Amino acid sequence: MSAAPQADSTILIIDDNADTIRLLSAMVRGQGRVLFATSGAAGIDIARLQRPQLILLDVEMAGMDGFAVCDVIRRDPALRSTVIIFVTAQSTPEAEIACLDAGAVDFIPKPLNAAVVQARVRTHLRLQAALATLDGLAHQDGMTGLFNRRHFDNQLATEFARHRRHRMPLGLALVDVDHFKLYNDRYGHQQGDVCLQQVAGAIREGARRPGELAARYGGEEFVVLLPNTDHDGLLVYGDWLCRRIAALDIAHPTAPTAPFVTASVGLCAILPEEGDTAEALLHTADMALYEAKRAGRNRAVVVRPGAEPRRSADPAEV
Ligand code: GH3
Ligand code: MG
Ligand code: MG
Ligand code: MG
Repeated sequence: MSAAPQADSTILIIDDNADTIRLLSAMVRGQGRVLFATSGAAGIDIARLQRPQLILLDVEMAGMDGFAVCDVIRRDPALRSTVIIFVTAQSTPEAEIACLDAGAVDFIPKPLNAAVVQARVRTHLRLQAALATLDGLAHQDGMTGLFNRRHFDNQLATEFARHRRHRMPLGLALVDVDHFKLYNDRYGHQQGDVCLQQVAGAIREGARRPGELAARYGGEEFVVLLPNTDHDGLLVYGDWLCRRIAALDIAHPTAPTAPFVTASVGLCAILPEEGDTAEALLHTADMALYEAKRAGRNRAVVVRPGAEPRRSADPAEV
């Protein structure tokens, strides 16, 4: 880890005293972009908009005090990688423990000492950067760079609940590379990995609308979450994705479907109601995928929950 200041870090100072803000700003100026707020409520607004890496938070403030601000920030999942350092004139062990218990990573005593402030901020910016990297990796599939299964499962649960609240259809696509065992047999496992990376790239390119999420579901299977997408939207997306993957034009001479790499896509959308589960949505998409394979591969099939599979046109004929 480098000891250099994180030039791209954002530090937010929340303090109801303008002199303290001036003093602290001057001390940490070289360690990142400095923002400030003179009340807890304003500080929370800025934190949500700017997502600072680090917040220097005054404990004793008129109105909302530092503990109340800390509590709100710690409950906001979007700010989970923001670290909070309390700045306080109370340096008893009890006060220190209260700061750490509240979810701060450290505290800086008043009166302020420039060298102490700079050292604490530097240390916590470095730790924060390392943790943010780990946090990102924990949600990512190492080989393809797509999200991993665990992240997908969490997002599926969240989106399922959100779509139920807002009465919107939630769509899901399961993508499985066709005859991939034969591809490995022909070109070797390593080249197989390169192929999966290319297919993943095509899927990522196709998942660009806000909230769309592409993940590696396992092996040569991928999954795409399609927010607010209905039956017709699924048909269009599924056909498009099949064509997009075929258009990568990755040679696969031993595949019975086509002399290039293709994929089958199973899709389903649900307007979630009380009693519906995300598992049922996945299960139905899996049935659709099975039907796409059975019907000849290199195609998308959409299944309505509780209905017979409805096949889209063979993309080769479109
Ligand atoms: P189908 O068209 O029915 O899907 O046939 P398939 O051969 O793709 O399906 P099958 O499930 O029989 O084989 C999947 C193959 O995918 C077998 C497995 O070795 C390979 N595979 C799974 N994960 C990876 C991976 O990360 N890298 C490589 N190179 N191969 C993988
Ligand atoms: Mg104060
Ligand atoms: Mg498979
Ligand atoms: Mg397969």
